[in-house]
Amino acid sequence: MTVSRVDYGDVLSMTEEELSTLMTTLGAERFRGQQLFQGLWRQAIRNYRDLSVWPRKLQELMEREYPFKRLGVVRHETSADGTVKLLLALQDGQHVETVVLPHRYGYSVCVSSQVGCAMGCTFCASGLKGRVRQLTAGEMADQVLVANELLASQGQRVSRVDIMGIGEPLDNFDAVIRFIELIHHPRGLYISYRHITVSTSGLVPNIRRLAETGIPVTLAVSLHAPNDALRTRLMPINRAYPLTKLMSAVRDYTRRTRRRVTFEYLLLKDVNDREEHAKELGRLLQGLLAHVNLIPWNPVPEHPFRPSPAADVRRFQSIVQEYGISCTIRRELGQEIEAACGQLRLREEERVLR
Ligand code: SAH
Ligand code: SF4
Repeated sequence: MTVSRVDYGDVLSMTEEELSTLMTTLGAERFRGQQLFQGLWRQAIRNYRDLSVWPRKLQELMEREYPFKRLGVVRHETSADGTVKLLLALQDGQHVETVVLPHRYGYSVCVSSQVGCAMGCTFCASGLKGRVRQLTAGEMADQVLVANELLASQGQRVSRVDIMGIGEPLDNFDAVIRFIELIHHPRGLYISYRHITVSTSGLVPNIRRLAETGIPVTLAVSLHAPNDALRTRLMPINRAYPLTKLMSAVRDYTRRTRRRVTFEYLLLKDVNDREEHAKELGRLLQGLLAHVNLIPWNPVPEHPFRPSPAADVRRFQSIVQEYGISCTIRRELGQEIEAACGQLRLREEERVLR
């Protein structure tokens, strides 16, 4: 029998509704779609044969017409504090990184949204070789499934998802929204929107689009500099969307969603960590529904920066706090294995090329 393909990528990228429609186009009952959805998300099946409620014929038809392959774990590194960094292989042989982090409240997973990144920030390992390709919603969601499989042995599961791994999520907008809706589904992983964070380098039009969806995720903006001259030096995207435009989009986002925005600010010694920068940042954010997260920079050998000393980080924090802005310092989890996000993938590509 020939099958008219429904092209959403792979079955892991499809909503329950789409799977049900697919079943009817294949001549199967609609409820088989629900069964498949629950099999994929609740049982984390690795092939259709694992779906024991299905007739063999349907399993075989789907194997032929809609084969799917889950992500493979290529490397797996655990640090003393319990952070696990995974290098995962995609079907086409590309790699992404996923990090599982322990917290007091449970576990979070840091998910990649692209292979590489097109934004070219001058301190980051992920963008060193540009953007190779977009991830599908299913490839992002599979990272959460893999994290859950890892935690299952301890009777745990992921409760927060940060889209903060390799890639710029708002440069892969539709797939990211689809991913968020997939992992939020009550018959799937049922992760609360409020426990999902989207981190962006500041793609202004898509910050506005995100606000328009009305999905109450947390927005994190990678700021890293309090003025345009410095920010453009660190983040080329600032040329297209300078601070006035970025701050106006963020202000509208907070008004519309009533959600506090997180500003990430990584500290580079003598570049953006001086007292005057802290004051300028305080003035920039004053009166905004904002939280500042100071990030110690993970050295990337290809980039010439140095991390700020801990004392300077604390001084920066207290100056920002004097402006009435809540400001924390990110815990350095998994430092000895982590290096910067994007580095595992980079080293793997170099190893393969050698
Ligand atoms: N592209 C998105 C999300 C992925 S990067 C963004 O830029 O927000 C996630 C965070 O890690 C960003 O705040 C980014 O600036 C930061 N980051 C990148 N390289 C880093 C490094 N070497 N050390 C510490 N943080 C880094
Ligand atoms: Fe891309 Fe984010 Fe790295 Fe910038 S910091 S290059 S936007 S992944």
